[in-house]
Amino acid sequence: MAAASAAFEAVANLDPRWPASLLDRIAEEIMALGDALLDRAAAETALPRGRLISERGRTVGQLKMFAQIVREGAWLDATIDTGDAHRQPLPKPDVRRMAIARGPVAVFGASNFPFAFSAVGGDTASALAAGNPVIVKGHPSHPGTSELFATAVLAAIKARNLPPGLYALLQGRSNDLGAALVRHPAAAAVGFTGSRKAGRALFDLAAGRPNPIPVYAEMGSLNPLIILPGAIQERGAAMAKDLAGSILLGGGQFCTKPGVILMVGNPTEFLVALEQHISSTQSVTMLNQPLRDGFLSRVTQWKRIDGVRASGAPAAIGYAGTRPILFETTAAVFLSEGELREEAFGPAALVVRCDDETEIARVLGTLGGNLTATVHAAAGDNPVALIGAMQSIAGRIVFNGYPTGVEVCNAMVHGGPYPATTDANSTSVGSAAIRRFARQVAFQNTPDEFLPPALQNGNPLKIIRNVNGRMTAEPVER
Ligand code: NAP
Repeated sequence: MAAASAAFEAVANLDPRWPASLLDRIAEEIMALGDALLDRAAAETALPRGRLISERGRTVGQLKMFAQIVREGAWLDATIDTGDAHRQPLPKPDVRRMAIARGPVAVFGASNFPFAFSAVGGDTASALAAGNPVIVKGHPSHPGTSELFATAVLAAIKARNLPPGLYALLQGRSNDLGAALVRHPAAAAVGFTGSRKAGRALFDLAAGRPNPIPVYAEMGSLNPLIILPGAIQERGAAMAKDLAGSILLGGGQFCTKPGVILMVGNPTEFLVALEQHISSTQSVTMLNQPLRDGFLSRVTQWKRIDGVRASGAPAAIGYAGTRPILFETTAAVFLSEGELREEAFGPAALVVRCDDETEIARVLGTLGGNLTATVHAAAGDNPVALIGAMQSIAGRIVFNGYPTGVEVCNAMVHGGPYPATTDANSTSVGSAAIRRFARQVAFQNTPDEFLPPALQNGNPLKIIRNVNGRMTAEPVER
């Protein structure tokens, strides 16, 4: 943490676009790891090679995206309101605002994205892009993979002649390490992906510091998916197959897995088809044993609830394997059993049969914050009221699609109200993720030569700025 603080001071006087070339170089170093990275990750996670290759593509892609965002500079939100000494009754001050880095950021890698959300994942990329040193608490599920990523970052830092304290990877087997990082006086912010229990523990620790710091925790979600009657009539067979695919993608270990399926009435044919598609996969190997055991304990509890039907018995298979299961119940049971509103992280989903759209909206209202909410509608369906209800609980609304597969783009919101995240106004995927790791500063009546380049009259960075209410890259006329 001391090295990170020193590095933060050392980069303060560099060209503010210094993270861009670092991020590009990290992407190159990751690709240069080649098969060693893929082999190690496959051994540690049991994820298939194809998935690891595509996740590496996403990881490298988001590093390059943030490099581009830094070069363009619009993310700084440079905003200039020029003064007016002659304004009556009082002179108007010259006020200029922009985003600046916060300081060392503690990042907690996720178990389920060993590349894209781990040692050099989205949190690391966005925190570095904003100009912060990063200290990663590696996930204990894939330590060797994390080490390889760390060597890539340290090689890139060296190649760019930047201070080595800009990045560190720490590994440990107890909660104490993560807690110590969050408590450390030099920590300025936290990025986390994982369970609600751990995210909330870190959030409370950060809030209890003498100087509280922000914690951006993404803690998973039920991701309600509504299927209206017209959609079933129009494309029920295809939807049963695609929905099963989304539920089982990555062994059901995605924070965007559709976990609760809300339907009107009892569309038997669709439900039989969905169950068949789910049961046709005999077993999935999960990322590690604790995740498998956590999944088994949750679905075993569900199976014991009166009024809940299961497509099979929960089963441990081999080292970390388990059987996919589809559950089904009524809205009345769902509303009376709080346990059913807890995430089953793994290959399972719960169908909730509702009387009508009004009951679906009532169920939605009990779900709390979610990363996504999805609706399938066709001719004859009226999803308008439901879209309003979905918007009030979720960060992303999906129409006639599936929530798994989060596009890394400028408009993406991978967030949502608590308990999906600890900050409903943040996203951990997409370019807007950079905003979490910066804060706004206004400079009032500050002489041009003392202003950061982004706010100087001549616009030396040639970035788009808001000058007196107009977006422009032109210099400020004095
Ligand atoms: P986790 O238990 O939340 O752990 C995530 C990270 O936090 C690890 O580095 C862990 O390492 C650390 N940690 C855990 N408890 C802590 C505490 N009290 N204080 C400080 N650090 C703590 O996540 P997981 O092991 O990946 O999976 C467990 C559950 O998390 C899953 O069953 C699932 O429900 C959920 N999950 C959600 C997502 C998501 O996308 N939001 C992703 C994966 C998992 P140490 O234990 O070494 O401290």
